[in-house]
Amino acid sequence: MTARDLTILGCSSQQPTRKRNHGAYLLRWNLEGLLFDPGEGTQRQFIFANIAPTCVTRIFVSHFHGDHCLGLGSMLMRLNLDKVQHPIHCYYPASGKAYFDRLRYGTLYHDHINVIEHPVEKEGVVHDDGDFRIEASFLSHGVDNVGWKVTEPDEVKFDKEKLKASGVRGPMVQQLKAAGSSWVGQKKVTLEEVSYIRKGDSFAFVLDTLPCDAAVYIAQDATLLLCESTYLECHAHLAKQYRHLTARQAASIAKQARVNHLVLTHFSARYCSLDSFLEEAGAIFPNTSVADDLKCFAFPKT
Ligand SMILES: [Zn+2]
Ligand SMILES: [Zn+2]
Repeated sequence: MTARDLTILGCSSQQPTRKRNHGAYLLRWNLEGLLFDPGEGTQRQFIFANIAPTCVTRIFVSHFHGDHCLGLGSMLMRLNLDKVQHPIHCYYPASGKAYFDRLRYGTLYHDHINVIEHPVEKEGVVHDDGDFRIEASFLSHGVDNVGWKVTEPDEVKFDKEKLKASGVRGPMVQQLKAAGSSWVGQKKVTLEEVSYIRKGDSFAFVLDTLPCDAAVYIAQDATLLLCESTYLECHAHLAKQYRHLTARQAASIAKQARVNHLVLTHFSARYCSLDSFLEEAGAIFPNTSVADDLKCFAFPKT
C-alpha cells in the first residue's frame, strides 16, 4: 500500500446522526495505516469505505470520551479475527489505562494479535523510528486529551541541473550522498552544492479542546491539520461551556500555526448542513475543507 490520504470514517461529535457516524479517521501513509479516535461503528465504516481494516498499524486515542474510543475494542477484535501478523501500536493518555484495558478486553475472544501499548505520560516525542516521528501535546478539554503530530523525516534531494553540471554521475551519486563529498578529477564536489533539503510532510490532529497554545504548537507548520469545530460562532457560549472549538477558532489555530490545509470535523448533531462551517472558517483560513463521512482527502507530497 503506497496511498497517502485521509479517509473520514465518521465526523460527528458525541451524538451520531443519520448522516454522520461517530468520529474515526484513517491516515494511509506509505506502508502504514494510522487510525485516530475510533468511535462506535468504526469497523462497519471501513466496509463502507471499501478499505480493509488489516491496513491499520497504529491506533491513536486522544482521550476516553466515548465518541473517541467506543470502537477501539471492536477494531482490535476485528484485527484479531483477521489474524494480522504485524504489531498494532496503540497510543493513548496514560491516565486512561483502565479505560483502555476495559475496551480491549470487554468481550470474550482468543487474543493473539500483538498489541504494543504506548501510554503517554508527558508531552514531546513519543516515537521516532526514522520513518515517522510522533509527538504528543496535552490539550485543554477538562480531561487528559492528547493532540498528535506525525512527521516524516526531511530528505536530501538532488538538484538535477547542479548535479549534471558538477560532473557527478552514475554510482558516484550514491557515494556522494553517503560520504558528503566526492572528487571529480581535481575538483571536490560537496553534497550541499548539488542538493537541497525537502521538509518532511506532517499531519496534526487536534480534537476536543478550548483554544490553547498547545493546539497551535502541535499543529505548527502541518501539511494537513484535522481539527474539531463542534460549533459555529453563534454557539460560542456552548463551545466554551463544553470545552470545544468553533469553526472560527479552529481556523484561527490553523492560521497561527501556518498549516497548509485545514479539515474541520466533530460536528454537533444540532447542525444539519455544514455549509456555514466552511464559510465561517474559510473567511479566516481560505484553504479549509469540511469533513463528511467516507470523504477522502489526498495527502500528496508537498
Ligand atoms: Zn468528542
Ligand atoms: Zn471529549
